[in-house]
Amino acid sequence: MRTVRTKTEVREHLAAPRRAGRTIGLVPTMGYLHDGHLSLLRAAREECDVVVMSLFVNPAQFGPGEDLDRYPRDEERDAALAAEAGVDLVYAPPVAEVYPQGFATHVEVEGLTDVLCGDPSRRGAGHFRGVTTVVAKLFNTVQPDVAYFGQKDAQQAAVIRRMAADLDFGIRIAVMPTVRDEDGLALSSRNAYLDAAERERALALPRALRIAAERAREGSLEDGLTAARAELAAAGIEPEYLEARDAADLSPVASLNGRPVLVAAAARVGAARLIDNVLIDPPGGAD
Ligand code: AMP
Repeated sequence: MRTVRTKTEVREHLAAPRRAGRTIGLVPTMGYLHDGHLSLLRAAREECDVVVMSLFVNPAQFGPGEDLDRYPRDEERDAALAAEAGVDLVYAPPVAEVYPQGFATHVEVEGLTDVLCGDPSRRGAGHFRGVTTVVAKLFNTVQPDVAYFGQKDAQQAAVIRRMAADLDFGIRIAVMPTVRDEDGLALSSRNAYLDAAERERALALPRALRIAAERAREGSLEDGLTAARAELAAAGIEPEYLEARDAADLSPVASLNGRPVLVAAAARVGAARLIDNVLIDPPGGAD
């Protein structure tokens, strides 16, 4: 496995395999790898001839006052884990390689980025503009056949699918299931901010989402959301949002309507802003 810092090196390393018709898989990450990241790397390893992992804490997707400066980083450990997972090439550029002096172009997906985490009263659409801009740049640098993302960030996955289709990238977007700890908490690099008591409290989030899905299937979606809110309140958690949305276009839904429904939540617990979601497939599968 090689680690490179520049776009030119990425292109040089991929030129020969591309010419030989080998398939390339890309896994974009901000590092501090956990089993969620590793599940994406393993899927890429299984499905593609060459696996590229990007490692870049993208300043453009952090708002002012967010955790850019204290975001956990450990490149050495990440490189060891990536090598173990069979990654061929790590692209870990410095900020100036991605955003050189004079950088002025952004990619923005409209609509899907105004809701949930993109709601102007929360992280704002600027967060997703940062994500889509950097992912578009990674797509152009690596030119993968397949790019892997996690369902844990369901809105991000929907936004990137839209961008890839709208801008004719010709890249298959693979979305892999959320990996959880044994206690149910969705793995996240930001879980490192939680102390033991906060972590215990944070478990209300996956519990509430599980309850929402169960009640929605047995009764109504509204019952499910009410029960989930009660579960969060009992743990002293006031969510930033807890909402049911169409899983594909993120439009609001009031009841299970024969299409996959996403129940998504964000909440601050201690110093960590946590997000999680559950997907409710219609009985008999999606259309
Ligand atoms: P990040 O490093 O947090 O930007 O995440 C990199 C990729 O890993 C994104 O596509 C995330 O959706 C995905 N990811 C993060 N946490 C998980 C998880 N618990 N399960 C599955 N995928 C995840």
